[in-house]
Amino acid sequence: MTHLLSKSKYIRGLQCERALWLDVHEPRLARYTAEQMRRFDRGRDFEYAFKARFPDGIDLSAELGRNVDLYPARTAQLLDGLSTPQSLRDSSPVSGEQLGSSPCQGEGDRREAEGEGYKGVVLFEAGFQYDDVLVLADVVCQREDGSLDIYEVKSGTALSDTYRRDAALQHYVISHCRRIHSFSIVHAVGTRCAVSADDTADDSGRGTPRPYHIVDLTAELAAEGDRIAANIAEMKTIVRATAEPDTPTGQHCLTPYACPYQHHCQHGVRQLAMF
Ligand code: SF4
Repeated sequence: MTHLLSKSKYIRGLQCERALWLDVHEPRLARYTAEQMRRFDRGRDFEYAFKARFPDGIDLSAELGRNVDLYPARTAQLLDGLSTPQSLRDSSPVSGEQLGSSPCQGEGDRREAEGEGYKGVVLFEAGFQYDDVLVLADVVCQREDGSLDIYEVKSGTALSDTYRRDAALQHYVISHCRRIHSFSIVHAVGTRCAVSADDTADDSGRGTPRPYHIVDLTAELAAEGDRIAANIAEMKTIVRATAEPDTPTGQHCLTPYACPYQHHCQHGVRQLAMF
């Protein structure tokens, strides 16, 4: 089942309808700076480090690669126990204690306080689709009653509005597919700890694990449904349009992210740096 929107396109659409249209129809025009690419890599490293705390996690991206439209069906198979390896079903659940076992973790994990484990599967990049929106969740832990604990991993050190909007979209989509027990954002705390002060990678190439906060936003996100639905409806209209919106450049081109289409939109404009 194909989709019209994803997490990244939704966030792009909140910034600018023209950027959303370009993301869908002319993505080859995007230009990312070397610093933006390095930031993506750092984000991936932080995410990998958190996922490493779930040794039995099943990574759908390793199996399905870029065939993202296949993720929801495979996710449903795994969550419904249709193809869970017996070894995984019999294995020890990931405990809250393990979750908080990072030698450089700063703040606690609420799951840790509950001291509970996961009896169901743990999935990385689990796919869910509703309302023509596909989301891939970083870490999904299935509880004994079938409900889900979801962790969205962000390498930034503050819980930004953009992180909240990203999480709200995911909550909206997933809550129409499965029962959510909790939805939390995992974000970095301060700088990388000890060993290498300059963020250099260790022998694994993944860098030194950073401390993190886990913030449970379940109640807040559940209240966002109507707004998310309205935003999605508006964005689907933009995406289906055949003509590129003629949105003028402005301050919105730089926040919350530097838009990768600036050179395209500046055609005929001397410099955007005047903002
Ligand atoms: S450069 Fe500005 S106007 Fe153009 S797509 Fe990006 S945010 Fe929109």
